[in-house]
Amino acid sequence: MPTLVMKFGGTSVANLDRIARASKRVALEVANGYNVIVVVSAMSGKTNELVGWVNETSPLYDAREYDAVVSSGENVTAGLMALRLQEMDIPARSWQGWQVPVQTTSAHANARIEAIPTDNIEAKFADGMKVAVVAGFQGISPEGRITTLGRGGSDTTAVAFAAAFGAERCDIYTDVDGVYTTDPRITSKARKLDRIAFEEMLELASLGAKVLQTRSVELAMRYRVKLRVLSSFEEPSDQAGTLVCAEEDIMENNVVAGVAYSRDEAKMTLISVADRPGIAAAIFGPLADAGVNVDMIVQNISEEGRTDMTFSCPFDQVKRAQKAMEDAKASGSINFHDLVADEGVAKVSIVGIGMRSHAGVAAKMFETLRDEGINIKVITTSEIKVSVLIDRKYMELAVQALHDAFELEKAA
Ligand code: ADP
Ligand code: ASP
Ligand code: MG
Repeated sequence: MPTLVMKFGGTSVANLDRIARASKRVALEVANGYNVIVVVSAMSGKTNELVGWVNETSPLYDAREYDAVVSSGENVTAGLMALRLQEMDIPARSWQGWQVPVQTTSAHANARIEAIPTDNIEAKFADGMKVAVVAGFQGISPEGRITTLGRGGSDTTAVAFAAAFGAERCDIYTDVDGVYTTDPRITSKARKLDRIAFEEMLELASLGAKVLQTRSVELAMRYRVKLRVLSSFEEPSDQAGTLVCAEEDIMENNVVAGVAYSRDEAKMTLISVADRPGIAAAIFGPLADAGVNVDMIVQNISEEGRTDMTFSCPFDQVKRAQKAMEDAKASGSINFHDLVADEGVAKVSIVGIGMRSHAGVAAKMFETLRDEGINIKVITTSEIKVSVLIDRKYMELAVQALHDAFELEKAA
C-alpha cells in the first residue's frame, strides 16, 4: 500500500477541536487508500513554555535534561491524535521517537537523525494499523537518552520518515497556505509561491523563514522527497499549497524569490585581539566547542598588530559565547581588551537562484536600504543570497522595502 506522511504543526493541533479537524484530514487520506504516517508537533506555545521553564531553572542547562523536558509536548499530541482517530474507527497507534526508534546523534537540543528502521511500524501496518502517529522533534541517542532535533524539528521528522518509508508525498500542514515571498505577517503584499526550488527554500529556511526547518529541506533535496506546504484550515485540493521541488521543475525563476529575516541575532565584537596566524582558530574553536552557532564574521584591518573581530550568533547564545571567550582569555589562548555584545540586531536576506545570472542585485539591495536610512552593520553573500545585519528596530521596514524594490508582489 502506498504511504503518505502528513505533518501537523503546533497551530494545527493547538486544542482538541483542531486535533479533531486534523484527524478528519487524515481519515480522508486513509479513505484514499494510503497507510498514513502522521507527524505531530506539540500544541502551539507548549514548547516555548517548556523551554522557558528549563531556562528559569538552569540558565546554562544540561542539554540532556533540556531534551527530557522539551520533548514531552509532542508525546501529548501524538497520544491524543491516536485516540481521536480510534474514536473515528480508524486503527491508529502513537509512537514516541524511542519506540520507532528514531536513531539520532547525541548532539542534545540539536541532534541529527541517523536512521529510522521501518520494521516496527511496517509490521503494524501489515497487521492492519492504518495510521502511525509519530511524536515529531524527538529521537534517541546511541546512549539511550531522548534527544530533540532543534526548534521546528518536526518538519525534519516528517521528511525523514517520508524518505525512510519511500512515501508518495510529505505534506506539511501549517497555519499559512504555502511558502510566501516573505513572511505574510510582515507585509500583506507577500505572495504565495506555487513552486519553489529546493536550493531557494534551503536558503530561506536557514536565513530565518521558519515555515520549514532547514534540515528538513536538506533531507528532502537529498532524498528527492515530494514536499508540499499547505494550510490545515483550508479545504483539501490537489492544487493547494506550495511544492518544494527541483530547479528544473520550475518554468521561470524570479531573480529574487523571497526575503527572509531573523530577529534573534546578536553581534559580538572582541576588541583588540592580536592579529597573528591562528587567532581565528583560537577564537572560533572554543565558540564551536561551547555550542555557539557563529554566522557572520568580520575581521577589521589591523593597527599595530591588533585588530577587532566581529561575529554574529543567535542572541540566546550570547551568555555561552561570553563564557567561552572569558575562559579562553583566562587560559591564555587569546587576549582581548573588551567583549561588546549588541543584542539589538536582526538579519535581513534576499534569496534567489536568478542572482547567479543577474548582476547588480546586491547593489540594488544596498540602495534600497540607503533610501530608507537604514545602516548596514555586516554583509555576507553567497551565489544565491545577500544578507545584512541591521538594527532590529528597522527590520520590518527593511523587509517591506526590499519586497517592494524587487517587485515581489507580482511573483507567483
Ligand atoms: P508550524 O507550527 O505549523 O510548524 P511555524 O510557525 O513553524 O508553523 O511556521 C509557519 C510560520 O512561518 C507562518 O505562520 C509564518 O509566519 C512564518 N513564515 C516565515 N517566513 C515565511 C514564508 N516565506 N512563507 C510562509 N510562512 C513564513
Ligand atoms: N514543538 C517543537 C518546536 O516548537 C518542534 C516543532 O514544532 O517542529 O520547536
Ligand atoms: Mg514549524
